[in-house]
Amino acid sequence: MAQRRRNLRIATIVYWVLLVYVFTALAWWSYMLLQQTEDIYLLKKENLSLTKAQYDQVHYEQRLNQLNHQRRRDIYKVVGEGGTFLLLIIVGAVFIYRSVRQQFRLHLQQQNFVMAVSHELKTPIAVSRLNLETLQKYQLEEEKQTKLLQATLQENLRLDTLINNILISAQLEGSSFEIEKHELDFSALVTDVCAQFQARYRIRELQTNIQNDVHIIGDGRLLKLMLSNLLENAHKYSPADKPIQVQLTAHRQATLIVADAGAGIPEAEKKNIFKKFYRVGNEHTRKTQGTGLGLYIVKRIVKDHRGTIVVKNNTPGGSKFIIQV
Ligand code: ADP
Repeated sequence: MAQRRRNLRIATIVYWVLLVYVFTALAWWSYMLLQQTEDIYLLKKENLSLTKAQYDQVHYEQRLNQLNHQRRRDIYKVVGEGGTFLLLIIVGAVFIYRSVRQQFRLHLQQQNFVMAVSHELKTPIAVSRLNLETLQKYQLEEEKQTKLLQATLQENLRLDTLINNILISAQLEGSSFEIEKHELDFSALVTDVCAQFQARYRIRELQTNIQNDVHIIGDGRLLKLMLSNLLENAHKYSPADKPIQVQLTAHRQATLIVADAGAGIPEAEKKNIFKKFYRVGNEHTRKTQGTGLGLYIVKRIVKDHRGTIVVKNNTPGGSKFIIQV
């Protein structure tokens, strides 16, 4: 990582040096041409005055005007060409600068993603294995057994969401991905996902307000993944003793709201959080594990259902994701 940053710094320095050189060369070239135009004009003018005797006054004035006109045209030509070059160089430079930065940022995010995914994949597997080995080795009381099984199930479900996210985001990139839309009971789907979530995180208070018989056209598998991701985030980014609210209503469109009472999302980050691999903060400030894929997938799913998603501040604190499909 440090090596990459060093390379970027060197590339940036080389870029600026080259750019300064190109600008200086352009300025020098323009100055020289203007100087040349002026010299030619003065020479021609001098020549004209030497041969003044050959012309009558009217003719002489005409020739002088022609010279002045030519001089002005040459100056405009140099300034116009120089200006066009300058504009092209600026456009090219901005384009190169932005694409190199973007490439670098994407590379860093991908690297973070690979590290995060390796960790996120390994942890549930290691925890599940440990739990199962404990159950196999020792004759535990029933209560402890249930606890261990519950924890293993939780890890398994977490793994399932993560793998779904990775697979779906890879498929979404390809052209082969087709969503299978048909009419479905959105109320039942939301109730189902909430029940699964509650079974997974028993101590978390989940306040639901789900209107019955909300039917929409959509892909049930993807819509479930969308809601699981929002619930996972609400759980991950808010204190365990604060409730999570899920609300489903329908007027002209179905409106799904997932709200939490966590720290919320800074205003400046609201447009970034839906980008692929994007995670708020940096490696040193983040306390939570994640891949930066969750909200990217949520947004893609909403878009594929011709819906909208916005994130607002919850009151008194926290975030509120509002989806309309
Ligand atoms: P991940 O959770 O794996 O980092 P996401 O794409 O799900 O990736 O979320 C992107 C970022 O948005 C997260 O890193 C987090 O900073 C922020 N975020 C998402 N949901 C919430 C939430 N409910 N409250 C606060 N921040 C959130």
